[in-house]
Amino acid sequence: MKKNIVYKYKDNLYLNITNRCPVKCVYCIKYRWKSRFRGYYLGLNKEPRFEEVIKELNKKLKIYCNIKEIVFCGYGEPLLRWEILKKVTLWIKKNYPEIKIRINTNGLASAYKKINIPKKLEGLIDTISVSLNAHNQKVYNTLHKTKIKSPFNKIINFIKQAKKYSSKVVITTILHPKIDVDKVKKIAEKLKVEFRQREYLTDYENK
Ligand code: SF4
Repeated sequence: MKKNIVYKYKDNLYLNITNRCPVKCVYCIKYRWKSRFRGYYLGLNKEPRFEEVIKELNKKLKIYCNIKEIVFCGYGEPLLRWEILKKVTLWIKKNYPEIKIRINTNGLASAYKKINIPKKLEGLIDTISVSLNAHNQKVYNTLHKTKIKSPFNKIINFIKQAKKYSSKVVITTILHPKIDVDKVKKIAEKLKVEFRQREYLTDYENK
């Protein structure tokens, strides 16, 4: 099956640069949807080099003229490859300065890599969207498996750093029966960042 490094969804282009992830979430659609996503296949047998990402991205940007946002997302944690992500971001800013850039992250890459990644990306990213998907450490541990110690607190620290170095930060949560969405919303209010709830996806959808 052809791997998709760059895929279009609604008005945006999404960049799938890794399948690696420092956490395993019980609700992850990568496993349940067998690496497929709405008609695309996001399984990577090897991670794309910078040149490959740019080639694919440029091709898509020539086909679709009204792209609003380019989003680092895919089936893995994009910030594990923050260096290549930074290079791609600089390329977009130079060649398509009108297009906004967003990162969808689980907020654990800084803890995993032991680097302050938001600081490394200072001023480059328009939106950092962090999937918190829990209202406290206990609930986080029920829904997520990771070797990182105190992951919930590490994500909160990541959000605070992201706020310092990026103009917009959003906390998101899926609507899951174990997650108290109002409490997640309150965390966002307390941290003075935006909040967005997302659908809890179960069966494969191709829409
Ligand atoms: S962080 Fe994202 S890619 Fe990683 S396991 Fe969770 S849902 Fe899947």
